[in-house]
Amino acid sequence: MQTIIQTLPKQKNIALVAHDGKKTALKNWCFTHKSILHTHNLYATGTTGLVIEKTTGLCVEKLLSGPMGGDQQIGAKIAEHQIHMLIFFWDPLASQPHDPDVKALLRLAAVWNIPVACNEVTADILISSQVMDQEVSRNLPDYQSYLATRLD
Ligand code: PGA
Repeated sequence: MQTIIQTLPKQKNIALVAHDGKKTALKNWCFTHKSILHTHNLYATGTTGLVIEKTTGLCVEKLLSGPMGGDQQIGAKIAEHQIHMLIFFWDPLASQPHDPDVKALLRLAAVWNIPVACNEVTADILISSQVMDQEVSRNLPDYQSYLATRLD
């Protein structure tokens, strides 16, 4: 498929998700980077969002809990270009009942070319980036051109 260039905005919509074994790590990470996160718009799966709000005071738009469909809601927002960055602390040492949803979420983040961090060090590097509060260009699948070819 051909690609087009689209710009991620200065103020980003950031999705935050952590499996139960990683919630403390994400909560602590959010606390450490509270002053930067505060300048963006935060979304999270239900339980993750609740934990982050209670412990950091950050305002988070909470979706459904991951196993109840929250991962899929975030995936849909990525596909609709409403989420610009994903911080997803998935637990590599525990199996998840919603493993297909976890894979689907990571897949959509790759399809739509958004920055993703799956552990603290990567998340530290992302949020410390000079372009965190700048516009960032990204290549996207050119879906409209693809549709046009299907009419030929
Ligand atoms: P939760 O979901 O924030 O509701 O725990 C996270 C997940 O397991 O995807």
